[in-house]
Amino acid sequence: MIRVEALPAAEGDCLWVEWTHAGLPHRMLIDGGSGRRARLPDGLADRLGRLPVHDRRFDLIVCTHIDTDHIGGLLHLFTRPPEGFVADEVWFNCRDHLVPADLLGPRQGDRLAELLRARGVAWNSRAGGGPVVVPDDGTPPVFSLPGLRLTLLSPDGEGLRKLRDAWPEPLTEDSAPDHPDLLGDMEDLFDLDPPTGEEPVAIPWGELADEAGYERDRHPQNGSSIAFCAEDTTGARVLFGADAHAETLVASLSRLGAGHPYRVDLCKVPHHGSAHNTSAALLDALDCRHWLISTHGGRALRRRSEEAQYRFGEGAQPSLRAMARMVRSGGTRPTFWFNHRVPSTERYADASLAAELDFDAVHPEPGSQGITVLVEKGRVRQAPPF
Ligand SMILES: [Zn+2]
Repeated sequence: MIRVEALPAAEGDCLWVEWTHAGLPHRMLIDGGSGRRARLPDGLADRLGRLPVHDRRFDLIVCTHIDTDHIGGLLHLFTRPPEGFVADEVWFNCRDHLVPADLLGPRQGDRLAELLRARGVAWNSRAGGGPVVVPDDGTPPVFSLPGLRLTLLSPDGEGLRKLRDAWPEPLTEDSAPDHPDLLGDMEDLFDLDPPTGEEPVAIPWGELADEAGYERDRHPQNGSSIAFCAEDTTGARVLFGADAHAETLVASLSRLGAGHPYRVDLCKVPHHGSAHNTSAALLDALDCRHWLISTHGGRALRRRSEEAQYRFGEGAQPSLRAMARMVRSGGTRPTFWFNHRVPSTERYADASLAAELDFDAVHPEPGSQGITVLVEKGRVRQAPPF
């Protein structure tokens, strides 16, 4: 069994993953959530605080890519590690894996690299110290942790080359509001007819699911995302999609699945449910019923959300288009797992909508945040609260 906790991570990801092997607990952390304040994000701080000091060991910590909503919390973690904190290995593709050392890069990516060097952390060791990357040919590489096999699906060489070209740009959090993907998702909303009076907006789900409306994510940081499928010794599989490009995932999955959809028991939906990372081709490449969505709705939208609030409630991740596609794909009743209760996720708590579109949804208890999913082969359920 693989236990996946989607900690509250604002617009980002912070996935706390545990499994047992030979009677011993093992653990990895995928991203640290957003860390804009000068301290560890609350969700991660609380979770670390619940571990006894002698048991704060991680088999692996993955920084999937350099966007603030993933790297931010990890910067705080490595700047001021809590007592007893041990990371056996870190995966992080920094500029030294990509470009000559004389180019300046985004502050945060360079800062994390400095910290890892200063702390002498085992860094990309399983990849021989080079980049964690899917080679151009052959089956995607598999890296083994005790009791867990990680099959790498992203980035590919092209994704890293594009990041290399983008690295000299000052891609700081200040530039994030103009993130093309978030703007694209906002357009989803504004394409629809405005509401009249107090009438709720009728969302044209069928229309939104239409693949003709798909535009791929071209954001270089997202394309550099480390995404992989984790499989335990019983065959339970979780796809951790980071903010990866759907096209990269599809290319790797097709090399794995030999023409058949690749079974995963749970998929952490790429890029917080953006319409630009959830293509019909990706859904076709997967045999999956359980979709985990990590978002509080999206920062850029929250900033300029007056119109979005007017129409649909604050926030717009996950995108309606991505949700419509997931609902329509595969023919089996999907279950959506959300780590935040915000208007853009709360809408799926509506029983009549769930019946109409044929899905199930699991939200955090009212007043709480974060969700924990227990994944066995062919069986996915919610963990009881601590
Ligand atoms: Zn993100």
